[in-house]
Amino acid sequence: MKISSAYIHIPFCQQICHYCDFTKFFYNERLADEYLEALEKEINTYIPGEKANVRTIFVGGGTPTAVNHKQLEKLLQMIDDHFDISGCEEYTFEANPGDLDQEKVRLLKAYGVDRISLGVQVFDDEMLEKIGRVHKVKDVYTNIDRLLQAGLSNISIDLMYALPGQTVKDFEKTIDEALQFDLPHYSSYSLQIEPKTVFYQRYKKGKLSKAKEDDEAEMYELLQQKLTKAGAIQYEISNFAKPGFESKHNLTYWNNEYYFGIGAGAHGYLPGKRTINIRPLPAYVKKAFEDGKPILHEEPIGLKEQLEEEMFLGLRKSKGVSKELFREKYGKTLTDVFGRKLTDLKNRELIAEDSENIRLTPKGRILGNEVFQEFLLDE
Ligand code: SF4
Repeated sequence: MKISSAYIHIPFCQQICHYCDFTKFFYNERLADEYLEALEKEINTYIPGEKANVRTIFVGGGTPTAVNHKQLEKLLQMIDDHFDISGCEEYTFEANPGDLDQEKVRLLKAYGVDRISLGVQVFDDEMLEKIGRVHKVKDVYTNIDRLLQAGLSNISIDLMYALPGQTVKDFEKTIDEALQFDLPHYSSYSLQIEPKTVFYQRYKKGKLSKAKEDDEAEMYELLQQKLTKAGAIQYEISNFAKPGFESKHNLTYWNNEYYFGIGAGAHGYLPGKRTINIRPLPAYVKKAFEDGKPILHEEPIGLKEQLEEEMFLGLRKSKGVSKELFREKYGKTLTDVFGRKLTDLKNRELIAEDSENIRLTPKGRILGNEVFQEFLLDE
């Protein structure tokens, strides 16, 4: 199995959202200059010679478009110097509404970016402010318009639900407004209150309440109903797409395929190991300048872990795990490896099987973690 994808992390943002636990720092011009130099050192370690052929590239963050024009062009050029963009099937940039001016859109298009993932979250200015976002709803309209005019129509937007004070009706309004754009792809995640975030501090002090479980479940159901009715297919727990517009890059993760993870805090999966990069910016930059290998930790992945992950990740997809691909990859059938567990899960109506795939049932989706645990193998 070759390394089919590259994830490149740009950890800068114009403002830090109250719920965010990603690797991110306030944008600073000098730091971003240094970071890009360091990033190139790391890319050179993985790809020292000829351009690499990968099927997908995903530039995420942080906010990759938070950098200035010169830096954005430098980043795009760097990627172009090391990867064969012409042979790439999907080249995505994450962006925040408000960051994408005409020049940035022009640059993205000129360097072959063909998919944009926009962090919209909600169509509600008051709520955007409450969760610490810097953009306004009108920025979403301006940015989508600008992207479409530039011929960048493969757009995905992220929506959030179960936010503090958000009612089911509020989220319904957000879904309806999002659907008016008739975009090819939507992702939607519920709020998770993670340590080291503003929301976590408020929650611990009793100043922030989580959404009620019932409301959260109702919002998720509404999301599924409305998006499906609008012609989007739910191909993963949190992702919906028109046929043919499923994220090829994210499918790399769920198909348990290899990918480079480049940049501060990035995770990668290479033959025999998972890699986790150094997160703090100065330490990442220092190590990248020292030897081009700013890796914090490498976790060996043997056959046992590979088989387990094949199930945890693959079952996130609505289609589930392909029996034929599993056999091709491992030279054993799913029944050879998980025989009794599969029968047990089927009897409990947590997974379903047809001639091609094994997938979660609706009940299995709700009890996801319980199902995944069953696929842990003995040493
Ligand atoms: S823009 Fe994205 S990465 Fe930056 S703070 Fe907000 S959620 Fe985090």
